[in-house]
Amino acid sequence: MDELPGGLRRVTMPLPARPGHVHTYLLPGEDGWTLVDTGLGLPDASELWADELAQAGGRVARIFVTHFHPDHVGAAADVAALTGAPVLQGRLDYAQCARVWGSEDWAAELADWFRRNGVPPVVTHELVGEGAFYRSVVRYQVDPVLVDDGDLVDGWEVVAAPGHADGQLTLFRDGALVAADHLLARITPAVGLWPESRPDPLGDFLVALERTIALEPRIAFPGHGDVIEDPVGRARQLLEHHRERLDVTATALGPEPISGYDVSVPLFGADLKPSARRFAVAETLSHLERLVREGRAVRHEDAGAVFYTAAQ
Ligand SMILES: [Zn+2]
Repeated sequence: MDELPGGLRRVTMPLPARPGHVHTYLLPGEDGWTLVDTGLGLPDASELWADELAQAGGRVARIFVTHFHPDHVGAAADVAALTGAPVLQGRLDYAQCARVWGSEDWAAELADWFRRNGVPPVVTHELVGEGAFYRSVVRYQVDPVLVDDGDLVDGWEVVAAPGHADGQLTLFRDGALVAADHLLARITPAVGLWPESRPDPLGDFLVALERTIALEPRIAFPGHGDVIEDPVGRARQLLEHHRERLDVTATALGPEPISGYDVSVPLFGADLKPSARRFAVAETLSHLERLVREGRAVRHEDAGAVFYTAAQ
């Protein structure tokens, strides 16, 4: 457990895959800690949390989930059972959480969606198989307290930060931003298009980055990696990065229809592990959909398959 400025504590939990860890935060308050995110729901999650919370001392007043990805929401129900604290989660994020982790037909929908975007069956099989592991380590809290952009949570302002996840929420107070995966120091947050996600997640992310710049946080505490000492500068870098990636993606398009998968191969390389391929395809699609909205690409649907061409 690390002590941070402002009385915050950081608890870092292990992840079996890259980036190998996730940061969760304890925010001090009059009625106890607000715990932000929970790590994966691995079998020993409750034990780990019991140790960490004993070290921190005091009670957990509430658990705040920034977004429904396994490394953030995974142990929410375990920590709620351990502490008796209510879980707070974004309204849109909880709907997506329940859809992805709580329904039986999600894997089939995901497989069909990859197929429509040109992913070969053998690769689709690997991509969907991987999802089964994550299902086993997500224990989200059913019927959490729903929160929205602009709400106050123990004096922290809830600031929506869509992009990495449609319903991702951050917390802001006195210049400090608990940033989830909206801003990361060295890694570029993944911004993918997924089935049933909002139609233009990269567009949402670019707007959210502009909003971060206007908010002028002086420090940001991210879900992975180092504390960010210059959040505004980092937000500007990420805007620039995606402007460049949009240009590179546009150069992969011509007059011949091409699938999202076929665009992703030269952009991200042919030799990727399933998890990396999953994100490469989703990331390519978020860029293609942004290009469509910028008038630089055209989407075509033909016999249940989706293709893109350069705009004339
Ligand atoms: Zn994360």
